[in-house]
Amino acid sequence: MKLPEDLLPIIKREFVNIQAYGRVINVVTSRGCPGNCIYCSATALSGATYRTRSIESVFMEIVLLKELLKGKMDLVYFIDDTFTAFPERVLKFIDISEKNNLNVPWRCESRIDVMTGELIKSMAEGGCRGIVYGIESGSQEILDKIRKKIDLNHVRNIIKYTCDTGMKLSVNFMIGHYCDTIETMKETVDFIREIYENFGADIALTYNTPYPGTWQYTHRDELGINIITDDYSQFTIVDPIVETKNFTVKDQLDISLKAVHYILNNSPTYEEVI
Ligand code: SF4
Repeated sequence: MKLPEDLLPIIKREFVNIQAYGRVINVVTSRGCPGNCIYCSATALSGATYRTRSIESVFMEIVLLKELLKGKMDLVYFIDDTFTAFPERVLKFIDISEKNNLNVPWRCESRIDVMTGELIKSMAEGGCRGIVYGIESGSQEILDKIRKKIDLNHVRNIIKYTCDTGMKLSVNFMIGHYCDTIETMKETVDFIREIYENFGADIALTYNTPYPGTWQYTHRDELGINIITDDYSQFTIVDPIVETKNFTVKDQLDISLKAVHYILNNSPTYEEVI
């Protein structure tokens, strides 16, 4: 079912001191995600139905931002869970931007499965300066079990296409999935090394954290997940809180140390994303 778009008006940023937010401005064009990854909180936070704004509304928001910031906006960051979920929306945004000389660089988060070389090329030519991909494991078996629905060979191709355009590439991984073993977590570190050595991407490695409301949290007992704390302030993703019969917290810390050389520079600098 397609929901009606634009039930809400464009956010009135003139009511806040937007200059205080810096020169990279976040814009949200959709809520939720059509994906079904078992660890993801998108559905818990945004509802099970993926909803989109019209591209005309998104375009008009950026026009208004340009006017409001009077040249002090360097980049729009589309912080949707998956800006590229429907590639035709992305292409429409590029088209409408070009026809109206918008000239605002942008960056987005994306799912690997919907990406193609053609789409990446269009995005790069249409002002996209960087893409963030969630890959989450270097083991195909684990990716299948966490319902990531991506293929590692496709991942390699998409990363190469993205780098070839000169766009800034950022990739995210996690260890500590319910189905991980010491061996599969090492496969993830091996994959991180491969990406780092071949493409020099910005790489983030965090720990699987079962947030309440996610599928894996609801099914934690049958998945064999032991959450070692009930203090939600420790659900940070930068400290492991999951153990299973196959690994401990210390195992995850030891394995992440093997990747530390490749992930030290995982936060792109302001200059890098502009
Ligand atoms: S693709 Fe990303 S946002 Fe969508 S369900 Fe999976 S992890 Fe969540």
